[in-house]
Amino acid sequence: MTSPQTVTLLGATGSIGQTATALLLQHRARFQVAAVVGSKNAQRLAQHAIELNAKVAVVADEAAYTELKDCLSGTGIKAGAGEAAVLQAASIPADIIVSAIVGAAGLKPTLKALEQGTRVALANKESLVCAGNLLLETARKHGTEILPVDSEHNAIFQIFTEPQRAALEYITLTASGGPFREYTLEALHTVTPEQATNHPIWAMGQKISVDSATLMNKGLEVIEACYLFALHEDKVHVLVHPQSVIHGLAHYADGSVLAQLGMPDMTIPLSYALGYPERLANTAKRLDLSAVGQLNFRQVDDGLFPCLSLARQAYRTGGIAPIVLNAANEIAVQAFLDKKIAFLSIAKIIAVTLETIPPCGVYSVEDVFQADAAARRVATEKLKQE
Ligand code: NAD
Ligand code: MG
Repeated sequence: MTSPQTVTLLGATGSIGQTATALLLQHRARFQVAAVVGSKNAQRLAQHAIELNAKVAVVADEAAYTELKDCLSGTGIKAGAGEAAVLQAASIPADIIVSAIVGAAGLKPTLKALEQGTRVALANKESLVCAGNLLLETARKHGTEILPVDSEHNAIFQIFTEPQRAALEYITLTASGGPFREYTLEALHTVTPEQATNHPIWAMGQKISVDSATLMNKGLEVIEACYLFALHEDKVHVLVHPQSVIHGLAHYADGSVLAQLGMPDMTIPLSYALGYPERLANTAKRLDLSAVGQLNFRQVDDGLFPCLSLARQAYRTGGIAPIVLNAANEIAVQAFLDKKIAFLSIAKIIAVTLETIPPCGVYSVEDVFQADAAARRVATEKLKQE
């Protein structure tokens, strides 16, 4: 038997983190866990660390350190806290790191892992949106790769290989359409965070659930796909597909269309990313097409869901624009979750933040964080006018 692969789990306490934990536990003999990282839920993180027999557990929030240390007392698992400890955990030599922190906060640790030559199984799409070129360049320089966990990108990764590039006409990312796909503009005025986070198909963290409801998630994913597969933005199409059975399609010059299908369960893309180039067995429910019965598709209504076009526009503008888009979105989504702004104000805040901050180029990781901070300041200011 080959020796186990070492894995680190960033965002271990989140939705993706928990799915990854279950998968790693199912394949105990194949993986050994170096470190688990979370934000502030010390108890849950400790539980994951103990189950996974991790060597190190780190909370980003220093205030949660004592609790984490207490929970881990007598286990031999080392506790850490604070941003430096998170970066240290990401730097521990490992074969694979699962990057599943939510938001731009995932960028620095993901970059650190790539700098060690660690293969990244990437769920944290915001880091690619903010610093796609930097991440890809770092991966190349250190002889490693980024494997997509996001289900649509994982699908494309399974059905599109480099030798077929010349014959690729375009790809399609599917979108469930979120909980409000049948709503009118009038009905969207009054939707609540509870409704927005009650996704009809996928069980996910709060931020991505709201992103799904505004379709910003698909906007971020279009940008993610442009980087991961080196495609022009106009070659990345989107179709609403309410059943979420087909995750991605590759359309070739001979008229063939390849698709990856599966139940909407992140266990499946995680299995592919963690097992690659092999396939890991898992306990995800199996797809029964006769039970699904129908597969439906339609175009996105840009009038109702402007975030997708805002993201495309930001990517076309380039430079800091996608960073500004992402940061303004993070601020606006949190304000919506905190019931400070209405659902439809999310897109407005993003648009006005993009209009306010003049475009400029990105040459270093410092530029990324400067643009991110500036956009957060402007977006926070704009919240007050809502
Ligand atoms: P979540 O909110 O459930 O979990 C986020 C995780 O990040 C938690 O473990 C939290 O403790 C940790 N975290 C937050 N801020 C941190 C910080 N500053 N430092 C360290 N850890 C921090 O979110 P999720 O749904 O699991 O999504 C995680 C990422 O995966 C997001 O980028 C999301 O877009 C992406 N993604 C999620 C899904 C899904 O089905 N949930 C699917 C595709 C992609
Ligand atoms: Mg996705």
